[in-house]
Amino acid sequence: MTPVNSSPSPVPPVTDLRPARRWVPRHVVVTRSAAERPHTAEILRRVEAAGVTDVQLLTADRITSPRGLSEREAYARAKDTLAVVVAPPSQLRPQPIPPSADWRLDLAKGCPAHCQYCYLAGSLTGPPITRVYANVDDVLAPIRSLTGSGSVTTGDADRAGEGTTFELSCYTDPLGIEHLTGSLAAAVTEVGTGLHGDGASLRFTTKFDDVAPLLALPHGRRTRVRFSLNASGVERFEGGTARMPERVAALGRVARAGYPVGLTIAPVMPVDGWREQYAALLDAVALALAGVDDLDVTAEVITHRFTPGSKEVIQGWYPRTRLDLDEDGRRAKRSTFGGVKYVYPGETMRELRGWFTDELDARLPQARLLYWT
Ligand code: SF4
Repeated sequence: MTPVNSSPSPVPPVTDLRPARRWVPRHVVVTRSAAERPHTAEILRRVEAAGVTDVQLLTADRITSPRGLSEREAYARAKDTLAVVVAPPSQLRPQPIPPSADWRLDLAKGCPAHCQYCYLAGSLTGPPITRVYANVDDVLAPIRSLTGSGSVTTGDADRAGEGTTFELSCYTDPLGIEHLTGSLAAAVTEVGTGLHGDGASLRFTTKFDDVAPLLALPHGRRTRVRFSLNASGVERFEGGTARMPERVAALGRVARAGYPVGLTIAPVMPVDGWREQYAALLDAVALALAGVDDLDVTAEVITHRFTPGSKEVIQGWYPRTRLDLDEDGRRAKRSTFGGVKYVYPGETMRELRGWFTDELDARLPQARLLYWT
């Protein structure tokens, strides 16, 4: 092994690894540049504590996949691999990310779970390796200069109270890998204690439930923890994630720890019995949040959609999927850049929207609906 710089990492050490409930990669690779970063030493300490034995320190920054693998084997190998890399300057320029947040920050790219509808299938290219960034300091550095300058939520009268918002879960599920990185705790702590100034807030969404490392952090109510929740008929497409009751229980735990919280109800699908299933979900959430002091809860509702590109990738990864990817039952929606995505027809959208608006009001009146799409 190449020696790794062992000066202090910006994150506290993890203390309660419970690998049985957490993703443990079979393979870990560290690029040459990443090996020089202090945070990498902490990641490797966590990787070792999780029981990973195949850790390779590369002599270059390029990550190559083993040759001769079938598409299925390459997918499985990639989903079993954690890569520690340095985010290049081109990926350190935050971009607006409507309708969620003013800016996007990436602590990692890729996710170890196996959701058959995963939106990453259409947005990330190549084998789905989970790449975590060793230069967390560089990732978080733009927060101070961008605070006050957002146009997505900062310019929205209903959301201006959130400050300038930074979304951490565009290209990964940061909680699903937190036990191996500590990057999320670093971000929450730094923003919560004002290290990057005042007026910024973080937000992320997750399908995992291992919130213990977050509960005691000095978050300053500046991070909104949202849980991606769905009907039981959709949950079956979400391999490798925490079960729905576990996510709902975790939502209650972070709310009781003082975090602003949220529901990301996505992707909404009108599966058989959807009204009953989503009603049961909202009732379970209401129960989990009952009696929380200073509750601040939001909801974001996102219907299922796919693109020609994401459909092709998903059908390559999950050839036997029963996910509805039939263009004939959808409406084609064109973007300003000429791309197309397939959404539900207008009548279905109106019915879903009306139902969620009414039932959120009735079953979870504390929740502010931020957007519907
Ligand atoms: S948890 Fe999110 S990012 Fe991960 S596979 Fe599922 S949809 Fe994709």
